[in-house]
Amino acid sequence: MENSLNRKDFIKKFSLMGVAAVGASSLITACGGGSSDTPAPAPATSAADPCTDVSGLSEADLQMRENVNYIEVTEIPEQRCDNCQLYTQPANGGCGGCLLFAGPVTAAGWCSSWVPTQG
Ligand code: SF4
Repeated sequence: MENSLNRKDFIKKFSLMGVAAVGASSLITACGGGSSDTPAPAPATSAADPCTDVSGLSEADLQMRENVNYIEVTEIPEQRCDNCQLYTQPANGGCGGCLLFAGPVTAAGWCSSWVPTQG
């Protein structure tokens, strides 16, 4: 008789643990957590940054940017577009440019043709 009660108690407790586990799992999923492999939702899209928007450029212009390995953010802090001789200052608060190729250039950008400003 005592064994029977113990078995019943065990089954009750085991069932409650299962319900609790399913409930916790559902709650974690609903909160967006539970897995570091799950990518975070993308932030709301905003208008393209005009200083990085190259959508209006021709294939030739894009190729020229690629030929000099242009990147929007330098990996060499002391070499930036805004301290390069070939950088053209932004007009009216717009984007900077480069004498080598068409299209916008970021002040923090860089390419393999960087030339230090004289000073
Ligand atoms: S030459 Fe290169 S580093 Fe200099 S302004 Fe142009 S893109 Fe920037």
